[in-house]
Amino acid sequence: MLELKDIEHFDLFDDPKANILIIYTGGTLGMDYDENGALAPCGFEQVLKRAPVAKELRINLSVISFEVPIDSSQVELNHWKRMAEVIYEHYVEFDGFIILHGTDTMAYSASALSFMLEGLNKPVIFTGAQLPIASPRSDARENLVTSLEIASDKNDGLPIITEVCIFFNNTLLRGNRAKKVESERFDAFESENYPTLAKAGITIDYEWSYLKPYSQSELKLNTAMDPSIVILKLFPGLNATTVECIINAPLVKGIVLESYGAGNVPNDIWFIDLLKKGITAGKLILNISQCNGGRVLHGKYQTSGVLDKIGVMSGGDLTTEAATTKMMYALGMFDNMSDIKKCLATPIRGEMN
Ligand code: ASP
Repeated sequence: MLELKDIEHFDLFDDPKANILIIYTGGTLGMDYDENGALAPCGFEQVLKRAPVAKELRINLSVISFEVPIDSSQVELNHWKRMAEVIYEHYVEFDGFIILHGTDTMAYSASALSFMLEGLNKPVIFTGAQLPIASPRSDARENLVTSLEIASDKNDGLPIITEVCIFFNNTLLRGNRAKKVESERFDAFESENYPTLAKAGITIDYEWSYLKPYSQSELKLNTAMDPSIVILKLFPGLNATTVECIINAPLVKGIVLESYGAGNVPNDIWFIDLLKKGITAGKLILNISQCNGGRVLHGKYQTSGVLDKIGVMSGGDLTTEAATTKMMYALGMFDNMSDIKKCLATPIRGEMN
């Protein structure tokens, strides 16, 4: 099992405005340069040393770190499971949760946790940085400090944010709508198909009508995820043998098909026949668009008209990150095909319209 360090408490205030748990997984935010000049993860002590202001926010902070902080390109399902378990185990004690995470797979992790944490009613905010906190021009301090403020913010005594989000570059996004779109500039994340939830300037301006409202629902933890899936991204020249290998792969139960534009695919007989063959063999095929904005609309063009008929499901405006994690979740949660399909076709955490 993935090792975590013991929880550390920095309880500094008698009358804190909030109790927040930080889960430190690694990422650039906490990295420093090694002897070869490459960025490698460091411990959380380094982070707090560089952001002392985090201790001045009238927030009682507690931290749980991965025993070995990781670059987020190393994230696997057991990391998601541990993050979700930590939140579930400490849900009552804390007002909100911050997950310090590398940016590379942050949108996958945020999507996965949104599905694992059913009935969430407290803020779970992923953040990280493009430059290590040790670097003078780092974006890490702002991202961390404002995430802490958002996670502590309440309205009439109730949390304002009640879902899994990503906060980056003064922008709060719904986690399962976000994508990493930039590896150099500070505005690393975008959400084309759902509006920004808040903007941080002199004040934090929430877009109230887009926030998931608070409810009395009870938190349920669903960590069973089945990773037997694959992404098939179309490109002109994709050949039949490659598609056949993917469709016939015995371990593949679900295929996220990244098609063109509004869900268009080549109408070659071999291609449609292979999709049909996969569906007849009991495989799920979920069609999403390669575009960051817009949606799949089967039948808008002739080139997607056949897909409904052969049983390809429309993924609407799901991101790749949300589609893959939702498919793993649906395959892990349900045994029978009609429940799996119903789950994929229905918005369950605000991930699709
Ligand atoms: N490779 C890093 C990671 O995802 C990049 C980052 O944190 O921005 O862990």
